[in-house]
Amino acid sequence: MAKEANIFILIDALGWEWVKPHPFLRSIAPYRRPLESVLGFSTSAIPSILTGLYPQEHGRLTLFQRAQGRSPFADLKLLCAMPPALVENRYVRYGTKLLARKLNGFAGHFSLYGVPLRCLPMLDVCERNDLYLPGGVPGSTTIFDVLASRGSSYAAYCYHQGADFDLIARMETELANRAKSFYFLYLAEIDAFLHIHGNDPAAVARCLDRYSAALSDLYETARANYSTVRVHVFADHGMAPTVRTVDIQAQLAGLKAREPHDYLCLLDSTMARFWFFSPAARIEIVSALSKEGSGQWLSEDALRELKAWFDDRRYGEEIYLMPEGTVIEPSHMGKIAPKGMHGFHPSTLHSKAAFLSSEDYGNWPNHITDLFSLMQNFA
Ligand SMILES: [Zn+2]
Repeated sequence: MAKEANIFILIDALGWEWVKPHPFLRSIAPYRRPLESVLGFSTSAIPSILTGLYPQEHGRLTLFQRAQGRSPFADLKLLCAMPPALVENRYVRYGTKLLARKLNGFAGHFSLYGVPLRCLPMLDVCERNDLYLPGGVPGSTTIFDVLASRGSSYAAYCYHQGADFDLIARMETELANRAKSFYFLYLAEIDAFLHIHGNDPAAVARCLDRYSAALSDLYETARANYSTVRVHVFADHGMAPTVRTVDIQAQLAGLKAREPHDYLCLLDSTMARFWFFSPAARIEIVSALSKEGSGQWLSEDALRELKAWFDDRRYGEEIYLMPEGTVIEPSHMGKIAPKGMHGFHPSTLHSKAAFLSSEDYGNWPNHITDLFSLMQNFA
């Protein structure tokens, strides 16, 4: 039976700025640091944690990208071409999502969000496999590939198996049985909570209290059953309170360039990503949004510096990014801006992810990509 329990808990959106003033797990994990994240959302940040690579290295930036070959939505082309008045309702969209998932065997996180059906045949999704199984990021080595190739004794828990507190209970049972030596737990629901309550610090503190209590019990169970217990809690990115909204669609509607004839635009909550079908549309849109000035165009240099540059521009020929706290409303991620949002420039205050540990690693780790080698040391 295993004598050591090495525990890694990924809490989606557990931002450093939210944890810093809170006693969250302080007695168990007194070594606490902010971690820099990567450009994008969980779609880019979680693969960075699992592989130690940046977006341009593991290939993921946002859920939707331009299809490079055949789109996984190509078989739905006729449906997607129907008049929006007929198909843009929640029943058809839900059916489309189920069908796309079934036709393509998507096993990762997949949602259509609010992406118009007419755009789908031009798009592809990057997360096709379950990230928490070996082979989750084809072309890259994840911590689960390492664990499998070493024949290590490990367990991984994520939303596919249940809600957060169910997963904690399952893991507690396995700890009580001293079943494994490496545990990876992904908790997704604090992200959802912060999106709704990101402007209410008292509500967030109460939410953190609940998790802190449950994870403390989990730790005590581990301590009672293993001679050595090391715990690491970390996030993929932070969460910024929403302070302002911007209607990019309204700005585009006033221009000569017309979608879908002249360009394709995907509106994530914090970035507008464009592909142009005419040089005039590019000039008009780039200059109009520059003049309006609510965000900034990300230059090639800026994207290369963030290691989020793709030669084939599959995530956008031009990307317009909002400053921290400014959310695009409406966007294809939601008609109404949430109270908290992430996906801003990694240098911004609330983009920092939290790292908390029972172990003292000095002035390391500093970046979410450092977590792969940390986990590898115990795999
Ligand atoms: Zn989120």
